[in-house]
Amino acid sequence: MSPAVAPIILWFRYDLRLADNAALAAAVALGRPIVPVFILDDEAVGPWRLGGASRWWLAGSLEALAASLGQLGSRLILRRGDAKSELAALALDTGATDVFCNRVHEPWAKDRDTQVVAALKSRSIGFQSFESSLLFPPETMTGPKGVGYRVFTPFWKACLALPPPALPVSAPKRLIQPGTWPTSDSFAHWKLRPIKPDWAVGIAEMWAPGEAGAQDRLDTFLDGALAHYGAERDRPDHPGVSQLSPYLRFGELSPRQIWHGIAVRAAAGEGEPGAGAYLRQLGWREFSYNLLNYLPGLPHQPIQESFSRFPWRDDRPAQLAWQCGWTGYPLVDAGMRELSTTGWMHNRVRMVAASFLVKHLLQSWQSGAAWFWDTLVDADLANNSAGWQWVAGCGADAAPYFRIFNPVLQGEKFDPNGDYVRRWVPELAKLPAHLIHRPWDANPLELAEAGVRLGETYPKPIVDHGAARARALAALASIKVAR
Ligand code: FAD
Repeated sequence: MSPAVAPIILWFRYDLRLADNAALAAAVALGRPIVPVFILDDEAVGPWRLGGASRWWLAGSLEALAASLGQLGSRLILRRGDAKSELAALALDTGATDVFCNRVHEPWAKDRDTQVVAALKSRSIGFQSFESSLLFPPETMTGPKGVGYRVFTPFWKACLALPPPALPVSAPKRLIQPGTWPTSDSFAHWKLRPIKPDWAVGIAEMWAPGEAGAQDRLDTFLDGALAHYGAERDRPDHPGVSQLSPYLRFGELSPRQIWHGIAVRAAAGEGEPGAGAYLRQLGWREFSYNLLNYLPGLPHQPIQESFSRFPWRDDRPAQLAWQCGWTGYPLVDAGMRELSTTGWMHNRVRMVAASFLVKHLLQSWQSGAAWFWDTLVDADLANNSAGWQWVAGCGADAAPYFRIFNPVLQGEKFDPNGDYVRRWVPELAKLPAHLIHRPWDANPLELAEAGVRLGETYPKPIVDHGAARARALAALASIKVAR
């Protein structure tokens, strides 16, 4: 330890890992003391304050990071409030002359960084940021017109034409302590976990936030489901996807670690044909960030301008039925209950459930995005906004609005035996496979044998599919979407 050397403040944001953390690696390489800090800055975030499920995740993630830092002889300093004031105060307390961090891409966070840089500069404190959360940063992927990409396929083709992302770097073995440790808030005071612990029981059973949990899940996926990912990724009834999204969201795992984990398997002749399909999905994440960078209104403004005239309804009982998984459409209800129990929902079902809200119920995509924001452990501004705009038909590269998912046919195709519905909608579990996605077609004897009383133990559909489809198409016609 050399207190004479000015420390570097390592400002953790959503990069809550020690391995392949560009800012941390750069600070360690300088051989200076490091003051790791996380600042909970709810005010700067505006409407995108972390939702309940994300706060639960953040608590676990920070605890894991603090423990890992402790093993390196270091600490995690917690501060709450305005980032520029907290950083300036920390610099004063510790004698730090530089702040290092990894880049963030949310519009509010970029605005905050601009203010932080100015405030630090006025006190002669340096600020350096590094790219560590994306494989193909937006400013290098400008597209032919210099305004980013609007269509996925050319975007991904351009990414794949570039040299592969650099190899990930290992976690440091030791961090030099500062001469003085500044004061820190305590986790307990932040109250990130819900006051009613029951609320998070299912989430806690499913997930282990933190870098070790991320690595375990990555290894399990690479050794197992990756090989069949292309064929299985649309099957919510099978364990065919990686469930790495919250780890990516909180930066407990970097996309480079995944990319190269897959590359190593591919070089050993393993993982194909799933590898290409999987990297392509990581590409959708990159694409969403490219959109958010060039279209900062993405979280609230439809990319297709005509959709700002769309006649959305504001039907609170319908929204509530959707949120609670009580619409009478088994696949939609299964997905919404999976979400509220575990904080996560399978991608195929996200598409169907989201489509049901905006097309069958004509509730705005922004209202759905807000619900997902609060309930998903992987709630991510770029992916969530792009996903909802895509489903609503107003986004870049959007599925045509007139293509309206039929939740019954989607269920029969992607959950053919009904096992996914049986798991999340147990009141229908005894229905045979050919009726489980359409219980209203069962005759009274079949319903009685399965113990189902429609309208009592399970709801009748809140809208008729055919009528809802016609109503959605009429609404679309009213804004005259040009395609
Ligand atoms: P895998 O299939 O294993 O994919 C690997 C990774 O690729 C994911 O972890 C994710 O980072 C990325 N990815 C996969 N599909 C997509 C996609 N369509 N768009 C962008 N990235 C993708 N994803 C989020 O991370 N956060 C969100 O808030 C979010 N909201 C969504 C809302 C809607 C309406 C829709 C339709 C999709 C949303 N997605 C979101 C995308 C996708 O559903 C999830 O990333 C995926 O289900 C996460 O599970 P997984 O890690 O097992 O995915």
